[in-house]
Amino acid sequence: MSHSANSRVQKHIGDPFSDEPAIPQEKLEEIFADIQSDLRFDHELNGCLNCGICTATCPAAHYYDFSPREIVQLLWTENLDGIYDAMQEKIWACAQCYTCAARCPFGNSPGGLIMLMRETAIKHGMQSAKNVLRPFSRVMLKLISTGNQLSPDMINPEHFADWGPNISKVDAPLKLLRKAIPMPTLNTTETAWEVNLKTSVELYTIWEETGVLDQLETIDENLFDVILDIMDEKREDWDDWKDEQDDE
Ligand code: SF4
Ligand code: SF4
Repeated sequence: MSHSANSRVQKHIGDPFSDEPAIPQEKLEEIFADIQSDLRFDHELNGCLNCGICTATCPAAHYYDFSPREIVQLLWTENLDGIYDAMQEKIWACAQCYTCAARCPFGNSPGGLIMLMRETAIKHGMQSAKNVLRPFSRVMLKLISTGNQLSPDMINPEHFADWGPNISKVDAPLKLLRKAIPMPTLNTTETAWEVNLKTSVELYTIWEETGVLDQLETIDENLFDVILDIMDEKREDWDDWKDEQDDE
C-alpha cells in the first residue's frame, strides 16, 4: 500500500524563532519522496498507535534527546518539516539494535525507517551526515584497502588507556599468538584476516553497483579519490596475477 494516496501531509509552518532560511517546500517533498519510495518503507511502516512502546525499550532514548515514537509519528503524519528537522541530528542517535522492531504492536520497524532517513540524508549530502561520518574516514580507508576495519596490531595499550588493568590481556606477543591460530588467513597482525585480491576486486564491483561509492563521493570527495586510486591499484594487481597464471 502506498501512503501517498491518502495524504496526511501537514502544511509547512516554519519556525518563527529561527534565523535560518526556510527550506523550500519542494525540497522537503523531494526528501520525503526519496524516503517513501524505498521498497522497504511500506514494509517498515504499517501505522502507528503513538503508544511509545518503541521508545520505552529503546536504549538510545535513555541517553539522548531521541524518541523512535516521535520519528515514526513524523513519517506517519508526513510532517515534512519535522522529518527534515529530525534528519539534522536525531536520526543519528539510533544504535540500530532493532529492539523497537521486535516490540512494536503494529509490526513497524522504527530502526529500519531511521536507516532509510539516514540513507536519504547521505544521498542529499546533508551536513549532519558529513559530520557523523567524518570520524569513520580512517575506518573506511582501512576497510577498502585491506578488507578489514580493525587489525590486531591496532589494539595496543597506548591506544586503549581507558581499558585500565584489562589492557594487560591484549599486551601479549601478538605475532606468536596469531601464528598459533590454525586458520592460515588469521596468521597476520596487520589485518584481522587476510583478504585475497579476488575478493577485494569483487567487493569493489558490489560497492559500485549498489551505489555505495556514489554515496561516499557525496559525503567525502577527498576520501573517495584516495579510495579510487587504491581500487585501481588492486585491480591492476589482480589483472597482473591473472596474466601470470596464463603465462604458466
Ligand atoms: S533500532 Fe534505534 S530506535 Fe530502535 S530501539 Fe534500537 S536504538 Fe532505538
Ligand atoms: S512505532 Fe509502534 S511501538 Fe512505536 S509508538 Fe508507533 S505503534 Fe507504538
